[in-house]
Amino acid sequence: MEDAKREANFLNRTFLCLPKSYLKIRIRKLEREWGFAIEDGANHYTVLHNEFPSYTLFRSVLAHELIHQWQYYHKFSGMHDKIFFTWRKPFGKLGYRIEKEY
Ligand SMILES: [Zn+2]
Repeated sequence: MEDAKREANFLNRTFLCLPKSYLKIRIRKLEREWGFAIEDGANHYTVLHNEFPSYTLFRSVLAHELIHQWQYYHKFSGMHDKIFFTWRKPFGKLGYRIEKEY
């Protein structure tokens, strides 16, 4: 959880510049995915699985979901579209792997 908060704050400072209310994270045991981003009215949060086989996967999934929060904030579609992948290169330079599915 501390890792998630630290990574989220780092990504936000470095790239995304979202209000704090978009950075809420919940850790749960998920069955079929590593994480997802929720926009529920004015409430925004990111859910992550409680265990990851590697730190790289963990921070890449978190980065992916925070890009969705960035899309919500800017009222873009939450799809894996061209706008979503404009972040792939800058994040990739810092070791985050932005894939379509997590
Ligand atoms: Zn996604």
